[in-house]
Amino acid sequence: MPAELIDGKAIAETIRAEVARDVAILAAHGVVPGLTVVLVGDDGASATYVGAKEKASKAAGMAGQTIRLPATTSQADLLALIEQLNADASVHGILVQMPLPKQIDPDTVIRHILPEKDVDGFHPVNVGKLLIGHTDGFVSCTPAGVIELLVRSGVDTRGAEAVIVGRSNIVGKPMAALLVQGRAGGDATVTICHSRTRDIASHTRRADILIVAAGRAEMITGDMIKPGAVVIDVGMNHVPDATKAKGTRLCGDVHFASAVEVASKITPVPGGVGPMTIAMLLRNTVRAAQRAHGLAEA
Ligand code: NDP
Repeated sequence: MPAELIDGKAIAETIRAEVARDVAILAAHGVVPGLTVVLVGDDGASATYVGAKEKASKAAGMAGQTIRLPATTSQADLLALIEQLNADASVHGILVQMPLPKQIDPDTVIRHILPEKDVDGFHPVNVGKLLIGHTDGFVSCTPAGVIELLVRSGVDTRGAEAVIVGRSNIVGKPMAALLVQGRAGGDATVTICHSRTRDIASHTRRADILIVAAGRAEMITGDMIKPGAVVIDVGMNHVPDATKAKGTRLCGDVHFASAVEVASKITPVPGGVGPMTIAMLLRNTVRAAQRAHGLAEA
C-alpha cells in the first residue's frame, strides 16, 4: 500500500490560523507584532521568498515590512540598520535574507541582531538555547516545521531511530538538536549523515524516521528506505524538464515514486516541508511580540 501523504499545506494553514488567533489576542492588548525583512541585492529567488514572507505576515494581521538595499551596500551600513531595528520597539522580529553579497559577512550580521528579535533562530545564543533544551529562544524555522509535521501527523518520535541526511546549520544540525531533546517531538536516537559518510544507505535503511536535507535531487531511492519508515523530504531542487513550460520542475531529495511504495508516511515536494517554513516564521514573530510585552505564550 502506498504511503500516506503528510499534508504540509494543511498543517501550515492550521498553524497560520493559530498565529492569527494569537495576533488578535495581542491586538486586544494594543500590540501589533512587527516583522522586518531586510533584502540586500536583487537575487530573484531571494526576492520571491521575501515577498512571500511579507505577504504572509500581513495576512496574519502583523505589521510586515521589507527594507530593500542595493547589492553594493557596505557591511557597516547594514549593521547600522540592524542597530536601528534592534532599538525600534515596534519591530519584534528581524530577518536578514541570505545569501548576502560577498562584501558582507553573514555571521557578523547574524550576531548583530538581538537574540530576542532573531526570529530565524540563527543567532549563536538561540542555537545554544536549542542545544541545551531551553524553550525561551527561537528555533530555525525549517527544522521546527519538520517537528510540527511529525507531531501533528501522530508520528511517535520516542525511542525511534531518526536519520538525518545533511548537517547544515539551518536544517541538519538544528534538526538533530530538536529530535534528541527529552520532550514531545524528541527522545529519538539520532544519526546525522553528510557528504563524508561511508555507505549512506546502511544508515538510511535503519531509520524509522528519515529526514533528508542534502540539496541533491532524488538521491534517496525506495531501496534505501526501511519498509514502514516515515520520510520527510526537505529538499527543493529545480531540475530540467522539457515537458514543463518553464523547462524545469521542482523535486525533493527523495525519489518520490519509489519511496512512496516503501514508506508509511511521506511528505510531497511541493506541499510538504516548504509551506511550514513561513508558518513557523510567523509563529516565532508572534512569540517575540508576546515575550517583548510579557504576555503569555499560547
Ligand atoms: P546545504 O547545502 O547547506 O547542506 C547540504 C548538506 O547535505 C551538507 O551537510 C552536505 O554535506 C550534505 N550532502 C550533500 N550531498 C550529499 C550526499 N551526496 N550524501 C550525503 N550528504 C550530502 O543545504 P541546506 O541544508 O541549506 O538545504 C538542503 C536542502 O533543503 C536544499 O535542497 C534546500 O533547497 C532545501 N531547503 C528547503 C527549505 C524549505 O523551506 N523547504 C528550507 C531550507 C532548505 P557536507 O556538509 O559534508 O557538505
